[in-house]
Amino acid sequence: MLRTHTCGELRLDNVGEEVILTGWVQRLRDKGGMLWIDLRDRYGITQLTFEDGVTPAHLFEAARSLGREYVIRVVGKVIERYSKNDKIPTGDIEIHASKIEVLNAAKLPPFMIEDETDGGDDLRMKYRYLDLRRTPVRRNLELRHQMMRAVRAYLDEHYFIEVETPVLIKSTPEGARDFVVPSRMNPGEFYALPQSPQTFKQLLMVSGFDKYYQIVKCFRDEDLRADRQPEFTQIDCELSFVTQEDILNTFEGLIRHLFLKVKGVHIEKLPRMTYADAMKYYGSDKPDTRFDMRFVELNPLVKNKGFKVFDDAELVVGINAKGAASYTRKQLDELTDFVKRPQIGATGLVYARVQEDGSVKSSVDKFYTPEDLQAWATAFNAKPGDLLLVLAGDKDKTRKALNELRLEMGERMGLRDKNVFSPLWVVDFPLLEWDEDSNRYHAMHHPFTSPKPEDLELIDDRPGDIRANAYDMVINGVEVGGGSIRIHDRRLQEQMFRLLGFSNAEAKAQFGFLMDAFEYGAPPHGGIAFGFDRLCSLFGGADSIRDFIAFPKNNSGRDVMIDAPSPIADAQLDELHIKMKNLPS
Ligand code: ASP
Repeated sequence: MLRTHTCGELRLDNVGEEVILTGWVQRLRDKGGMLWIDLRDRYGITQLTFEDGVTPAHLFEAARSLGREYVIRVVGKVIERYSKNDKIPTGDIEIHASKIEVLNAAKLPPFMIEDETDGGDDLRMKYRYLDLRRTPVRRNLELRHQMMRAVRAYLDEHYFIEVETPVLIKSTPEGARDFVVPSRMNPGEFYALPQSPQTFKQLLMVSGFDKYYQIVKCFRDEDLRADRQPEFTQIDCELSFVTQEDILNTFEGLIRHLFLKVKGVHIEKLPRMTYADAMKYYGSDKPDTRFDMRFVELNPLVKNKGFKVFDDAELVVGINAKGAASYTRKQLDELTDFVKRPQIGATGLVYARVQEDGSVKSSVDKFYTPEDLQAWATAFNAKPGDLLLVLAGDKDKTRKALNELRLEMGERMGLRDKNVFSPLWVVDFPLLEWDEDSNRYHAMHHPFTSPKPEDLELIDDRPGDIRANAYDMVINGVEVGGGSIRIHDRRLQEQMFRLLGFSNAEAKAQFGFLMDAFEYGAPPHGGIAFGFDRLCSLFGGADSIRDFIAFPKNNSGRDVMIDAPSPIADAQLDELHIKMKNLPS
């Protein structure tokens, strides 16, 4: 090795030792007679000290001529520091150098490579290899590594076998657009990159593998957000001869294991909530249960009192923001503006304050008597000092809007602490979802999901009411994983494809291989996949998954560091029999 120790290693015990360190010059402080260098590597920072008159002149000058991010090798003696730094583990010592060797010079970096940086997002993405030198970013990847190890340890211990599945495949229906790859050897034909290994893992069950997992890249061509990347990583799992109950228990075990091993946090048994309740009480299939503030429906209390907005509404529903009655007019106006934003789409906000004497003062006092308003307070279990916020309108839209308002209030009231974790299972999802645009049903999870046997009788008359054996794991309002018990019977699978509007020929062309496999002894099976990047960002207390991916893409799906995607040469296009046309300028 070029070094005897790392920059994070030396302590008081090493005082007096002659050591060799290598690393990057993070900072150089030149006070004339004294010069300090912070030398950094992956393990930490060690201070090098040079003193005019004590350090030989040529060495002092050599140190002075170093620039930020130079890669150097230093020979020196470990000395106890006069003024110690308790912020870093090596803060009790420093190195008095006897030799400096420049291993490589460096151009001035485009931003500060320190915990707090002056670099904007774009610049840091372009020079991602420099950003990765920063401790907070490196820590995120260390966390990811730790998570990956803990996942493998748990699944290995539970007899899962990791099997790799191909990346050049044909479309898997996970509800997004496919990335496609042209095939040179098969002109005019394309592979699709997997949106998930769904069909392969089911085929592995037919092969008898029984318990499969894979930490695997998946690709979905969707519009991007903070928690989405075109390529992302799943912990993908499938099991045979299991019930939904077995799967929930196995994977809640995985999550508890991760919390314990990686964060030292003990998680109780995960509560379960039906999809119907999640929508009714939280307006979302991924409720943030770190705080209560459940929805209270008011229809019977508010109708036919002359307030047209409520009379015309399909649903009148509200939340109780406990202790927020002191909200000023300005704050309430902000909330009204918030719910009226086009993304949220409410037409207005009704509020009612429970005053110190227990009486209720509302924005609709004109229409409701004090007794009416008392009945509201009772429905919300409201106490003096509470603020009731009520929305009205179309059922689904109003629930969605109130969900946003609830989250906003949770945020404002400090109820969404990143160090508190509230995982739960949401179960009994509908099998199908009506799509207004295409005027037909879509699979809510994917077309391989099994209906609940007891709901099968609804298949002809009320398919929209069929529930699936499908489940999501939700933590702090984030869907971290989801899966289902699968169909393993060819006839039922065919029926499902028909329901989804596939002709027999289409179903056969796209998924014939799977339906054929079902005729060779397919075991009952089911599985789940976790969004690994999301899980990492959640554990790391961040909102964006980008910081937990070594080389992420920006919001336009570009890797600005390597400049991809990029045009390819005409010769390459010819080889693929592809002709460009009408490119948007
Ligand atoms: N393939 C599914 C997904 O990517 C997960 C599953 O059903 O196991 O969401």
